[in-house]
Amino acid sequence: MAKYVFVTGGVLSSLGKGILAASITKLLRQGGVKAVSMKVDPYLNCDAGTLNPFEHGEVFVTRDGFECDLDVGNYERFSNEFAVKEQNLMMGSVYKTVIERERRGEYLGKTIQLIPHATNEVKARIRNCAKATEAEVLVVEIGGTVGDIESEVVLEAARQMNFEEPPEAVTFVHLALVPTITTGEVKTKPMQHSVKSLLARGITPNFIVARSPKMIAEPVKEKLSLFCNVRPENVFCSPDAVTIYEVPMLLEKQGMHERLSERMDLKLRKLDLKEWSGLVDRLKKCAITEKKVRIGVIGKYATSKDTYMSVFEALNHASAHAGVCVEADLVDSEEIEKHGIGALKDYHGILVPGGFGGRGIEGKIAAIQYAREKDVPYLGICYGLQLAIVESARNVLGWKDANSSENDETTKHAVIDLLPEQRSVTEKGGTMRLGAYDVAIVKGTGAHKLYGSEKISKRFRHRYEINPEFIPDLEKAGWVFSGKDPKREIMKVGELTGHAYFMGSQYHPEFDSRLETPEPMFLGFVSAAAKRA
Ligand code: GLN
Repeated sequence: MAKYVFVTGGVLSSLGKGILAASITKLLRQGGVKAVSMKVDPYLNCDAGTLNPFEHGEVFVTRDGFECDLDVGNYERFSNEFAVKEQNLMMGSVYKTVIERERRGEYLGKTIQLIPHATNEVKARIRNCAKATEAEVLVVEIGGTVGDIESEVVLEAARQMNFEEPPEAVTFVHLALVPTITTGEVKTKPMQHSVKSLLARGITPNFIVARSPKMIAEPVKEKLSLFCNVRPENVFCSPDAVTIYEVPMLLEKQGMHERLSERMDLKLRKLDLKEWSGLVDRLKKCAITEKKVRIGVIGKYATSKDTYMSVFEALNHASAHAGVCVEADLVDSEEIEKHGIGALKDYHGILVPGGFGGRGIEGKIAAIQYAREKDVPYLGICYGLQLAIVESARNVLGWKDANSSENDETTKHAVIDLLPEQRSVTEKGGTMRLGAYDVAIVKGTGAHKLYGSEKISKRFRHRYEINPEFIPDLEKAGWVFSGKDPKREIMKVGELTGHAYFMGSQYHPEFDSRLETPEPMFLGFVSAAAKRA
């Protein structure tokens, strides 16, 4: 029988509940317990695919093809295990299931209510996730902040689970802000109020974690303990960290794993965090090193790095392994359109990540042209590969109208296009290639050197492909297609020879990168960029 840890958040969002959930999972796993994380999002969306990346950050894709909240990416990176679709539940899909059941008459004339019908479905999905992942402990992060109207149903389901399961099988961990005001005083009141909110919902937290700029002092812990009705040894602190990967170690130092193990009656062996802490030390050193390898990530959503979270994390991982210090900036492609490529001169490498639609693409294409012509290492991910193909078609082959049919349906040179069988599909939903597929790597190419294998399996999220009609011309322009669909002549990896590093993939290599094992394409890119630094 699985045990459950519910992670709730108070006072405000973006405190790092996902990192806390991933860190708890990591500590338990290092202690030999099969822990798995799950995120329950209270939104009415059915998955993250339709959310706005400006507000919610990157859409992470599981190997089984589910478009997830970005926290699932953190779960993979911290647990070093592939996630499955059951690990992200968006409440829209719960309500949809309940309403569809009602329409089919499955409730036999009953009044359908949030409690018990929606809460039953939430509990079933949580238990099903534990089953699907064979988790001994399922760490369930409840999205949003306690008190949000939308989260009520999820919290109520968690309360019911606590009631239904044996006493040691359900644990509540509450994370809330403990701010320091201008006088330097550390304030516990926001935490106290958010714990009161939980109590009002029938949930008594077993652990509280104070999110504060610095480690809180013992008297503050004691105060939190007394006012929040949580034993002093179960009050922890998650101070600001140089890197997110340090958080499990900060919690371990405070003995959180031991307290969790006591509470849940687990058999935890001594934690082994040696490799992890060595890598964290390298990242921490990087933060204070002057000599940086500067990477420009050219994005459309340039307000927050969260939009490309896995890309920035993959650069960090490669950095720790290449023995260099990467400093990656998010560069707004529309700024390049307005002011030219001048700002790119400081970068030792240029990366264009995935994207959709026409906004900002001319800026990305200008950046790609600059990288190609000036021998600056370039990595193109999905749209970044497609636009590199467009750039070559325009500036090497001289087809000024070349484009992706995603942006220009009438161009004669649709070098990026839908495959013939997709052209007749008018709906957008369900037409995307999502999840993991095999890629055949061509021997003797740059990609083969990086992967050391003729067969890899990578995650995709796209509709358009390099138009097979133009392959011979593109090859004349210098492109080598080093990764292909194993079943048909559709290109999945492209590279330019005679360049410091110029490579792109139709898949998303960033999803597979780990602190322990960086993704080869990123490692190759960062190593090439380091030579220019
Ligand atoms: N918009 C492009 C497509 O649908 C690229 C998608 C992406 O970069 N993930 O094919």
